[in-house]
Amino acid sequence: MFSTRPSSFAPGRPVRSSHETASSEIAGDEKMSGQDRCDLIVVGGGVAGSATAATMARAGARVLVLERDTAFRDRVRGEWLAPWGVGEARRLGLLDTFARAGAHELPALAGRSLKPRSSRSPEGDAPLTFSHPALQEALLASAAEAGARVVRGAKVTSVGPREAVYATNGASHTATARLLVGADGRSSLARKALGKEERVHRAARLLAGVLVGGLSIDPSFGYFILDEEAGGVASLFPQSAEVSRAYVMVEGNDASPFAGKGGFERFIAAATAMGVPAEAFAGARQDGPLGSFVADDIWIETPAAPGLALIGDAAGISDPTWGMGLALGLRDARVLSQALIAERDWDAAVASYAAERDRYFAAVVAIENWESDLYFAHGAEADRRRKHAMRLWSKEPGRYPDLPGLGPLADTSEEARRRFYGEDVPMEVEAPVVVAMPAGDSRAVGQAFREALVARDFEALEQLLGPRMRTRMLLPTGAYELSGSGPTLDTFRGWFEHVDDFAPLSTSQDEVGDRLKMSWRFELRWPGELFLRVIEQNAYAKVVDGRIVVLDLLCSGFRPLEAAA
Ligand SMILES: Cc1cc2nc3c(=O)[nH]c(=O)nc-3n(C[C@H](O)[C@H](O)[C@H](O)COP(=O)(O)OP(=O)(O)OC[C@H]3O[C@@H](n4cnc5c(N)ncnc54)[C@H](O)[C@@H]3O)c2cc1C
Repeated sequence: MFSTRPSSFAPGRPVRSSHETASSEIAGDEKMSGQDRCDLIVVGGGVAGSATAATMARAGARVLVLERDTAFRDRVRGEWLAPWGVGEARRLGLLDTFARAGAHELPALAGRSLKPRSSRSPEGDAPLTFSHPALQEALLASAAEAGARVVRGAKVTSVGPREAVYATNGASHTATARLLVGADGRSSLARKALGKEERVHRAARLLAGVLVGGLSIDPSFGYFILDEEAGGVASLFPQSAEVSRAYVMVEGNDASPFAGKGGFERFIAAATAMGVPAEAFAGARQDGPLGSFVADDIWIETPAAPGLALIGDAAGISDPTWGMGLALGLRDARVLSQALIAERDWDAAVASYAAERDRYFAAVVAIENWESDLYFAHGAEADRRRKHAMRLWSKEPGRYPDLPGLGPLADTSEEARRRFYGEDVPMEVEAPVVVAMPAGDSRAVGQAFREALVARDFEALEQLLGPRMRTRMLLPTGAYELSGSGPTLDTFRGWFEHVDDFAPLSTSQDEVGDRLKMSWRFELRWPGELFLRVIEQNAYAKVVDGRIVVLDLLCSGFRPLEAAA
């Protein structure tokens, strides 16, 4: 943790509130009780506000937190903290508070291939999941333990530099301090009080989320599945073996499909249509409100003025699709607190915080916008750009910025942008792939299918799949059902496209009545692994008009062979 210099806290202006003793007030601390002065008023006891309050109170500042809610409830907010945000929590000395809130390590996420991929920061931190209301309670309790005075049920009605007017139990109070920190979230009053122009970047997408209980899942990995065709994302972040936060992101701003009776069932259907295995939702139960939000970026430049600083969502909201809001809020808490602790002149301190905030918020949003632009644009040209970039990423993974691991330290230079899009490499001219195949001849389809698989020619493979095909797979991780050729093709890509030392050991086919029986065994190496793996798959296919319309597949899994010498 950074060093603290309590001596820099000159006495603040008086707090003119009568000292509330409502039962909603977290037990008054010894430092504040009986005093009528404070250094810092924090409006809002969310993650950003209470992390700042705890840090400043630990450093010896007299802190007053005004929080509207007497008890926190599920507001459908972030419950996945990116690895770089875990580093921020550690630097703030708040990781034990996350543990107290029941935080769970989620070291891997599976994409379309359904194969979990590890996600850690260069420091080795894995993402954390938790209940947002539980985390808010724990952080606010930490602030109170550190000596902050926390008033719950305090609705702030007006704010200005160094001053807040708030109501508790119908009575109005005015509090003043050296600095007012606006941490009052998405619809911030403090943001309006600052009077700066609000910047908005419209995403034309909607993010719906709900807490799902009653599950029976492996809590060591979640899902984050991008579906470019649907222009959306489906995700599932386990908090335990039974409870997960689930999100579906769709195009447009129509929340009605997820509203009212049947909204939860339609939500689950949308998530499974985008590729989350239906099995993951077996026994699913709605455990909280289903909320929908437009996925905009909304921010103000330089979110501070003398006597007033904004942090967290109050300062700027980044598109929640990419899950960076909590990490940003924790960084705000750290950067602002460090500046206040280091600098006697708090007006200078908030100015330096705000300038730095502009830089790191812009860096995070820039990368999010590259990703959104590339993944969610439609049309043939967008498809070509996407394929081109993805091909290059698979050869050179460093082209893809590690936003979850590095946050704003990821490279956002023009060169990095060009490398992300692959603009530094000429696009391959796509020759149309034509697969000659007698209609109705399932043997020819089997032959072409195995050849395409061996050549890992996924364009040719796609030609053999019926657009509305249904695939059932029995894998070591469970049974899965996919509808449409896209998810099936993506699954084969996920398995075989980005592996090294790929070598076919055998393939064969036969006919069983009206079913085509195919079998293949491959040897390969996962990138970064020293040893080889072998995999065998057996499939029964129904072929109609030269395309596979039903595929039932049994898989051995990627079995490790002996370690390479
Ligand atoms: C659907 C969705 C999914 C998300 N998913 C993720 C994710 O996976 N990962 C991630 O990192 N981020 C995610 N985010 C973003 C993340 O939730 C926010 O960035 C974060 O919660 C902001 O914290 P905050 O403390 O700034 O604001 P808030 O959490 O909104 O806290 C503000 C507090 O201020 C209080 N308050 C407001 N007005 C007043 C008032 N007038 N008087 C007194 N008190 C007041 C409120 O009661 C509240 O407690 C998501 C957001 C949404 C909407």
